[in-house]
Amino acid sequence: MASIQDAISERIQAMNARVNNFKELGLYFYNQPVTELRGGARVLVNGREMGMFASYSYLGLVGHPKINAAAREAIDRYGTGTHGVRTLAGSLSLHRELEQTIADFKQTEAAITYTSGYVTNLTVVSTLVGRGDYVISDKLNHASIVDGCMMSGAKFLRFKHNDMEALEQRLQQVPSGYAKLVISDSVFSMDGDVIDFPKMVELCRKYDAWLMIDEAHSVGVLGKTGRGIEEHFGMEGAIDIKMGTLSKTIPSVGGYIAGKKDLIEYLRHASRAYIFSAALPPAQAAAAKAAFEVILEEPWRIEKLNKNTQQFINGLKERGFDTLFTTTAIVPVICGSDEIAFRMTRAAQLNDVFVLPVVSPAVPPGLSRLRATVTAAHEPAEIEYAMDVIYRAGKENGLVN
Ligand SMILES: *Cc1c(COP(=O)(O)O)cnc(C)c1O
Repeated sequence: MASIQDAISERIQAMNARVNNFKELGLYFYNQPVTELRGGARVLVNGREMGMFASYSYLGLVGHPKINAAAREAIDRYGTGTHGVRTLAGSLSLHRELEQTIADFKQTEAAITYTSGYVTNLTVVSTLVGRGDYVISDKLNHASIVDGCMMSGAKFLRFKHNDMEALEQRLQQVPSGYAKLVISDSVFSMDGDVIDFPKMVELCRKYDAWLMIDEAHSVGVLGKTGRGIEEHFGMEGAIDIKMGTLSKTIPSVGGYIAGKKDLIEYLRHASRAYIFSAALPPAQAAAAKAAFEVILEEPWRIEKLNKNTQQFINGLKERGFDTLFTTTAIVPVICGSDEIAFRMTRAAQLNDVFVLPVVSPAVPPGLSRLRATVTAAHEPAEIEYAMDVIYRAGKENGLVN
């Protein structure tokens, strides 16, 4: 291969130099494989059994027997792949059953699935808005939303995180007669805080804007039965475009939109990721469908998640940590510099607590953190142990007294 000296090579070398620097210091923790599930929230990593505190499996459904069985059965019935894209030969009755299950769970008329949450945001935002339209997005929205907005070609307006006055200013900025789409995470993926949903809904109605909410971190987490942010606020039917992923609480892979029949029918015929990318594999579709059923059949999981979340947030705060404004299962432990975040990670993992650091540019510089998560699979004693480990690491690194 030719060795070309240009901007591409420089970019590759600059990133790899940063990575190698942390690897040499023994402070690199990304891309570590889990080699075995050990039951509950225990996993085997690097030959050590650890408590998993970085999982998105909020209700502890990875490995659930009913979900595993559904996946196996689907393979026996349909094989491991499909005959292509949904529009042509790739649709299975299983896909329609999954979409009906999602529509029922989200209390909408219909739903459509895609092969990832990332792709769902990319394709749906860029299908719904384009040149001549306006898309208005919270500054801390997930990367897939940001990328969808940029790809759409619509005027892309961002507002200060969770600041509804700033949102209203943006809405007022749009000249009359233009289509407007407001998009937000329900629970923010790095900070764990919840959007001011009632006010956002009110503003969208006042200014005739469409509202799209990304429920990646609220399905199975918010609401008495885990249905998400509308249930949490008692505002069923307030969202026009309900987006979610099948890769977090739902232990599969894929993404979906739930909404009115007209909207879903339009997306089936206009969104490029549906038309030009293969259908969800049978095992993953069946697992996702079974998981929605398990959430409703085993409500104790949501109760346990809520208890564990309270224990974790309160315990870390009592120990002196800054956890920002989280009220959910995503708990940032602010460290400041990248290096402190990496040192905290090392100390935790050396004591068999699997947490991971998040550093800039994923979060603002100076707000590097452990991004810890708690799930329904944890036992109170495991949470207490993890908090003590994080506390000792925090003391060594001057974060707490
Ligand atoms: C994880 C995530 C996605 C992407 O979902 P995948 O299914 O992992 O592609 C989208 N939005 C938010 C807010 C997320 O946290």
